[in-house]
Amino acid sequence: MPPVLFRFRRLQTRLAALYGTLLLSAVALSMVLTFLWRPLLHALRPHEAALAGGLAFAAVALLIVAIGTLLLARNLTRRVTALHEAVQRIKQGDFVEAPVGADDELGRLSVSFNRMIGDLRDREDRLTHVALHDPETGLPNRLALERLSASQDGLWVILLGIDRFEVVRGAIGYDAMARLLTAIARRMSQLSGASISRVSAAGLGLAVVAADEDAALRIATALCEAAHEPFTVSGAPVDVTLTAGVARGSAPGAALSSPIDRAAIAIAQARNQRRTAAGFDPAAYGDPQGNLSLISELMAALDNGEFSLAYQPKYDFRAERITGVEALARWTHPRRGEVAPDLFVGMAEETGHIRPLTEWVVRQAILDQQTLIAAGHEVIVSINVSGRLLSDDAFADFALEQIAGTEARLCFEITETAVMHDPERALAVIGRLSAAGIRISLDDYGSGLSSLSYLKRIPADELKIDKSFILGLGQSGRDALLVKSTIDLAHGLGLRITAEGVESPTALALLRGMGCDMAQGFLIGRPKPLAKLLVRLEGLADGQPDTVARIIAA
Ligand code: C2E
Ligand code: CA
Ligand code: CA
Repeated sequence: MPPVLFRFRRLQTRLAALYGTLLLSAVALSMVLTFLWRPLLHALRPHEAALAGGLAFAAVALLIVAIGTLLLARNLTRRVTALHEAVQRIKQGDFVEAPVGADDELGRLSVSFNRMIGDLRDREDRLTHVALHDPETGLPNRLALERLSASQDGLWVILLGIDRFEVVRGAIGYDAMARLLTAIARRMSQLSGASISRVSAAGLGLAVVAADEDAALRIATALCEAAHEPFTVSGAPVDVTLTAGVARGSAPGAALSSPIDRAAIAIAQARNQRRTAAGFDPAAYGDPQGNLSLISELMAALDNGEFSLAYQPKYDFRAERITGVEALARWTHPRRGEVAPDLFVGMAEETGHIRPLTEWVVRQAILDQQTLIAAGHEVIVSINVSGRLLSDDAFADFALEQIAGTEARLCFEITETAVMHDPERALAVIGRLSAAGIRISLDDYGSGLSSLSYLKRIPADELKIDKSFILGLGQSGRDALLVKSTIDLAHGLGLRITAEGVESPTALALLRGMGCDMAQGFLIGRPKPLAKLLVRLEGLADGQPDTVARIIAA
């Protein structure tokens, strides 16, 4: 039992004993008086005067005792009330000490009580510290930044995301990663003068005063640039790059109430646009609540015929012909109209619906290819296959079953990250597909993590350079250099190379000059339904070579 409770019990016992004694004395006195009253009066009559004096004396003594008791009781009541009030304030989280007063039972109870309050206060301080700090680095955590950002108007939250976090952590280990984060936080804190919190595994955050979003973005960019100088972890230099997201501290009515969540989404938006820093864009964030209902509608939409395929042509430089098409899924929602493919593909991947969607695409693409072949157009149909399906043998079984005994000539576009996720299983599935005659294309090359060791192991036929490199080809010398070296690398590995996102004649001419094999993009043709693709191919099928000029004019 805690000492303070023990003392309290002892005080209670003693008070109970005192009350008991007083009660017994009063009962005994009244009994004595009842039996002895008459004989006593008779016997004392001769001493009436002395008795009156005695009684007066007794009355005065009684009065003094009564007043003394009253004062004592008031003093006791005051101290007990103070103790009671202290208990009530503790209930509200206010750790006040009780007044000690005299060195008596109650005083000692108060001393024990105050000692307990001190212990409680220490324990609460420790709990608060744990709740507001990251255990790995000791830095303030997300909750701490959330509180700080709401504490004052005009604050902006800047989130700094470590690019390729998992790769860096995989390379240097968890302990060194914690030290790296601490080193980054120290540098950022020195530069900004703000306290740096760790808000997620790969994210550090701070709150700054800034006049507007542009001013906050300037600070964010400067902080990211400060990371260009390597950090030292256990004596070794470690290179990292940062991407920043910026959001207003308090934004009533915003799509997401937490500025940290908004800044985290801004990081993703910045990465998509290949920028160092970006502010939160509610339009780009979209309508997640509405998206939630879309997920439940997806399966029915496949059965209801709301899905269709659009085909985008792939132009072969050497053959001067359209030799392939990429099948792109389209969802025309009865109320919302066209749903963006990036949105429903992403949702289908997250919710386990990607297999039925892809199986529908495979079935439809094979049917459409038969129509094309019947019309005399031999084109390879490319289909996008999400990473998740590459470790799914059931999907491979389905695809092989579908192509068996048909004239289907398919190419599966996969991304390299998908293979890196679970290399052994993915390589086994890819091996089965490839052995059955399905071509393999590495999509979006250069946009994510590119690892030469995997590139060598995947039995791919084609490499597609990501459109982000091609879109800026006329303007950026750096992009041109990267594209040229990627083409040479692919050829070195025996792969054909397709450039996607070809929008301008300049880009097309440059790619031809660099020895690129195939081009795909709005300049060659936008994705179109099968009927329109057929019309286009008919127009070109006159035995003449499909020169670039003809393709563009068609
Ligand atoms: P992706 O595989 O990189 O497909 C190419 C995307 O780039 C298509 O967008 C296409 O319309 C667009 N594009 C083509 N040429 C140009 C150009 O010259 N300039 C620009 N700016 N864009 C161009 P779309 O159709 O919106 O598809 C977006 C993504 O959705 C695709 O990217 C693909 O990853 C995914 N996707 C589409 N259909 C399917 C599918 O059936 N299955 C899976 N798993 N993913 C699909
Ligand atoms: Ca693709
Ligand atoms: Ca692509």
